[in-house]
Parts: sequence; C-alpha cells; structure tokens
Amino acid sequence: MKVELIAYTPEPEAVVAAAARLCYSDLGASEIRENLSPEEVRSFLEKLISIGHLSPLEHASFTFAIEGVSRALSHQLVRHRIASYSQKSQRYVDEENFEYITPPSIAADPDALELYRTKLEEIRAAYRQLARIVPREDARYILPNATETKLVCTFNARSLLNFFRLRCCRRAQWEIRELAHRMRQEVRQVAPTLFALAGPSCETEGICWEGKMTCGLAREVRRRGVPDHGRYNLGT
Ligand SMILES: Cc1cc2nc3c(=O)[nH]c(=O)nc-3n(C[C@H](O)[C@H](O)[C@H](O)COP(=O)(O)OP(=O)(O)OC[C@H]3O[C@@H](n4cnc5c(N)ncnc54)[C@H](O)[C@@H]3O)c2cc1C
Repeated sequence: MKVELIAYTPEPEAVVAAAARLCYSDLGASEIRENLSPEEVRSFLEKLISIGHLSPLEHASFTFAIEGVSRALSHQLVRHRIASYSQKSQRYVDEENFEYITPPSIAADPDALELYRTKLEEIRAAYRQLARIVPREDARYILPNATETKLVCTFNARSLLNFFRLRCCRRAQWEIRELAHRMRQEVRQVAPTLFALAGPSCETEGICWEGKMTCGLAREVRRRGVPDHGRYNLGT
C-alpha cells in the first residue's frame, strides 16, 4: 500500500483558527490570522475541539494519492460521502495484467495461498478471453474484489476525524484500517494539533460503541485514565 499526502490547505491550523475566531471577533479573517501566534493557534484549536465546535475544521482540506489497495477497500472508502474521489477506471484501463492484493491470512497459509493464486490466474485468463469478444466495461464484471486500484481522495479535517474515528478502530477491516493509520500519520505531520486526538473513541474517550464485539481497549484506556486535555465532540 502506498499513501501520500500530495496537497493540503497551506497553514491548515492557522486557517481553521482564524475562521473560528472570526465568529467571535469584529476583525476580518486575514487580520486575525496575521495576529495569531503559533501558540495561540494551538491553544485555540484545542479549545475548539474540546467543545465540539468543529465546523471551522471544514476549511482545511487534505488530498491523498493511494495505490496498491484492493477494490474491496475502495468500496468501503467511498462510503465516506463527505469527501471527493477519483479512481482508476476499469472501463478505460485494460486490466489484462491486473495486480491483486493478498490478505495476510491467505499469505500466511500455503494451501490458501496456492488456491488463491490459481483462481486469480484463471480469472485473469477468463478476463483476457472476454475482453476480446465484449467491451472492457463488460469484461470487468469477472474481476475480483482483490483487484488492485488507485485513487485520489480529498477530505476536509472534520470529515477526516470521522473517518479516523471509524476506521482506525481495531474492529475495522484490516486493509482500510491500515489505510486510515497511514493517512493519520501523514496529516499529523502537517497539522499535529488538529489530529492529535484523532482516532477511535476508545483511545480518546475510553468509550466503545461495539457492544459485545468490543476488543477491550476502551476498558484498558479507562483503567489508565482518559486524557483530560480535551476530547473530540463530534456532535456539533
Ligand atoms: C466497522 C464498520 C463496519 C461497517 N459495516 C457495514 C456494513 O456491514 N454494511 C454497510 O452498508 N456499511 C457498513 N459500514 C459503513 C458505514 O455504515 C458508513 O457508511 C461508513 O462508515 C461511512 O461513515 P459516515 O456515514 O459516518 O461517513 P460520511 O458519509 O463521510 O458522513 C459523515 C457524517 O455526515 C453525516 N451525514 C452524511 N450523509 C448524511 C445523510 N445523507 N444524512 C444525514 N447525515 C449524513 C453523518 O453524521 C455522518 O456520520 C461499516 C463501517 C465500519 C466502520
């Protein structure tokens, strides 16, 4: 899997802080931004996040190039509606030599791996045959969820917090969880305060919504003590 943050709002934290301050000030956003020190930006963002005033976070956006992921992953990713996507087309791009993603559980089991590879090669042969007699857009119907795909996606910071909350969770499917962790790593480098507490509610609040299917981390976090430096309140 390759995940790269290829573009983002310049000075995302200052932009969000200035937009939020504007709500409570007579001054214009440019003037506010010029007068905010990095320390003020940081403490203002922490406060903003802890009280759940998250709409100003929508002014900062982040664009990722993602490669080496499966169509099983991309199907889950695009369920996140508050984002923009561009994905490699199976209508316009020939898939005769498609790459495929192998889940770790299959890679770890020689019999499963042998079966997996054999069947995927059969599918490849069938695709090639079909693509000679029907349009690519129809031949692709035989391609599996394992088929490798490439995407570009753009999220705003608020939507990313929702994404990390759902997909960094240990209960999320392994491939999209790995993607979420990589994306979180990328944005933390350029907006550390905005994403300091990004992640599942067990990590930030000691609360798990998975009921009986909980992995138990929330209990562990509560035992260690929930961070008191602020919580994401995704409610407003
Ligand atoms: C562990 C896990 C298991 C899952 N299993 C399944 C499954 O079995 N089947 C399945 O179909 N999906 C499943 N999903 C996908 C899930 O239901 C969501 O579609 C996906 O996580 C996107 O989340 P979202 O709607 O919060 O994100 P976004 O679409 O980005 O929306 C962000 C937020 O905006 C608001 N919003 C967006 N659109 C609307 C709207 N139309 N109306 C009102 N509010 C809106 C909501 O508050 C929402 O939380 C699963 C997700 C996870 C994390």
